[in-house]
Amino acid sequence: MIDWHSIDTVLLDMDGTLLDLYFDNYFWTEHLPRIYADKHQISEASSTEQLMRRFKEDQGTLAWYSIDHWSEQLNLDIPALKRELQHMITLRPHALEFLRQLHDSDRDVVMVTNAHRKTLDIKMDNVDITQWFDRIVVSHELNAPKEEQAFWHKLQQLHPFDPARTLLIDDTESVLHSAREYGVAHLLTMLQPDSQRQLRIDTDFPGIHHFDEIMPESVL
Ligand SMILES: [Mg+2]
Repeated sequence: MIDWHSIDTVLLDMDGTLLDLYFDNYFWTEHLPRIYADKHQISEASSTEQLMRRFKEDQGTLAWYSIDHWSEQLNLDIPALKRELQHMITLRPHALEFLRQLHDSDRDVVMVTNAHRKTLDIKMDNVDITQWFDRIVVSHELNAPKEEQAFWHKLQQLHPFDPARTLLIDDTESVLHSAREYGVAHLLTMLQPDSQRQLRIDTDFPGIHHFDEIMPESVL
């Protein structure tokens, strides 16, 4: 599935790729609607309905990925609420072993995330994997989400890479399409970003269930 001999740079998404998306899905679709319902004295059903409608409007934009934006919009301390659930932040199976092997293989390993810096900090306080990366890139700090071509151009300036010899693993298809448009040659998605949800079967890109399917050590 992956020809490791033709890959020098590995770009890895965080949520839904290295980390179980269950935390994020549970937070935004269950925990937050309950808090919001409580605050406004409305039913959980109408709270969920209202929030989902608002979330849909900005999807894929930097604002959507910004917890400062949502703290302000909803008048709630989103980072504090996330910390209430931080025990639910977990690495996906085999993620640590995969990162160790990539590190040992001397490839350039870069985390590329649309998560806000505050979200990244909360996650890394619980599952610190920062030592395994040559660089961690937060799209907010490049002023463009991965869905936009501007992100890839700015990433290239910040951390030069050869797109023809680069692998991106990301669970978001619009991000993979954007990377392909830029010229990233090797693209993989995750078939089950959230361990509590159904396996995806209709992806536009080849997918893996777990990292043990593509361990780099097996080709050394
Ligand atoms: Mg993701």
